[in-house]
Amino acid sequence: MQEALLEVKNLVTSFRTADGTLQAVKDVSFEVKKGETLCIVGESGCGKSITSLSVIGLLPQNGSIESGEVLLEGKPIQDLSHEEMRRLRGNRISMIFQEPMTALNPVLTIGYQLREPLLLHRNVSKKEATVKAIELLKQVGIPYPEKRLKQYPHELSGGMRQRVMIAIALACHPGLLIADEPTTALDVTIQAQILDLINDLKEELGMGVLMITHDMGVVAEVADRVMVMYAGKKVEEGTVEEVFGNPKHPYTKGLLNSVPNIDDPEFELEAIPGSMPGLNEEISGCRFHPRCQFAMDKCKVLDPPEFIDRNGHTAKCWLHEDEEVKADESNGTVTATV
Ligand code: SF4
Repeated sequence: MQEALLEVKNLVTSFRTADGTLQAVKDVSFEVKKGETLCIVGESGCGKSITSLSVIGLLPQNGSIESGEVLLEGKPIQDLSHEEMRRLRGNRISMIFQEPMTALNPVLTIGYQLREPLLLHRNVSKKEATVKAIELLKQVGIPYPEKRLKQYPHELSGGMRQRVMIAIALACHPGLLIADEPTTALDVTIQAQILDLINDLKEELGMGVLMITHDMGVVAEVADRVMVMYAGKKVEEGTVEEVFGNPKHPYTKGLLNSVPNIDDPEFELEAIPGSMPGLNEEISGCRFHPRCQFAMDKCKVLDPPEFIDRNGHTAKCWLHEDEEVKADESNGTVTATV
C-alpha cells in the first residue's frame, strides 16, 4: 500500500461571525497518498475550499481549526506557528488558485515571483534561481521563457498565467500540490491542457494532488479517488471508478445526473431540488434529507454514520446500513452517531 502523504483526521473548522461561531467543516477525515490525486467535489459553500485552506494554514482571520488533526508525512502541522507554516508553504506544500491574477503580484515581474520561493527555501544564488526559473517555465510549456521572466502578469494570457502559477507552485518540488478550481476561469481547450499538465507533473515528480472542484468532468479527467462533500460533511468517498460507476449517496447521484452525457441520447438532465443549507441552519438527522427523494422517517431525526463496503467505498447514508460502520481511525471507535 502507498504511503499516506497527507492525513486529515476529524477536522472541524469554524468561523467567528456576528451570528456566533459557525462550523464550515464538520468532522471530515481523508488522506492523500504519494502519487495520487484526490478530488474533493461539491457545490459552492459545501466546505471543500475551507478544507483545503485549513490544510495549508491560509484560513481567513475569523476562521480557525476547532479540533482534529492535519498530518503531513506523519507530522502534525495544524498547530505550527505562522512562520513555520510559511516555511512549509511553497516548499513541502504548494497551492494553485482559481484566478491567477489574484494570486500573482501585478507589480512584480514573472521572473521575480518565480525566483522568490527558490531564494527563500533553497540555498541558491540569484543566478542559479534564474536558471531554475527558466527550466520551470519550460517544464510547464511556456515558450520563450527568458523573455517571459521580464514580463508582468497582465502581459500574459489567462492560460499562460495559470501555467506560471503552477511553475511557482512546483519551484521547490512540493510533496503535496493543492489545486483549488485551477481551471474554472479558463476556456475548455486551455482547461484540458492545464489538467494534462498537472497529471503529467504528478507522475513525473511523484507528488500527491488534492484537487478542489465542483466539476464532475474535471474529476473524471484527473482523480484517482473522489470525496464528495455536502453542507460541511463528507458524504461519500471511493475510487473514481467506484464513485462514477456505482454512486451510493443520493447527493452524488444528483451531481452526476446534472452533468450532460453526450454519449447517451436517452439521458435526461436532472437538477437537485432545493438548495444547500446555510452554515447557521439547524437541520436534524441527515443534512441532505430536505432535498432527498429517498428520505425515510429515520433520516429526519438520525444523522447516519459512514458505512463502508468491501472495496473501501463509503457513504454517509441510511440506504447502506446493511454495510459495516466505518471505524474512526483517530480513536479506534466507530463513527456512528446514533
Ligand atoms: Fe437520503 Fe436518508 Fe440517505 Fe440522507 S440518509 S441521503 S435522507 S436516504
